[in-house]
Amino acid sequence: MRFLIYLFLVYIAYRIIRSLLRPKREISPGDVIDEMVKCSFCETYVPRREAIKRIVGREPRNFCSEACADKYARLRSGSETDQNE
Ligand SMILES: [Zn+2]
Repeated sequence: MRFLIYLFLVYIAYRIIRSLLRPKREISPGDVIDEMVKCSFCETYVPRREAIKRIVGREPRNFCSEACADKYARLRSGSETDQNE
């Protein structure tokens, strides 16, 4: 039974050494990790890969959520119709 404990400890040590040898994921060109973009509606910073991308008023915008994208689009369309009065 003691053999299993040693095996487990060796496995843990192996995992620790591996994580020390490779502390970061390899960053390939075009795959930028942790680049933050600002939500155009609530101004919260979100990782680019998780941001919701929408074209609003012919400009690409980033949002933290679908809800913010919808609110921003509604706000923009609302203000545009006001100007057309
Ligand atoms: Zn937002």
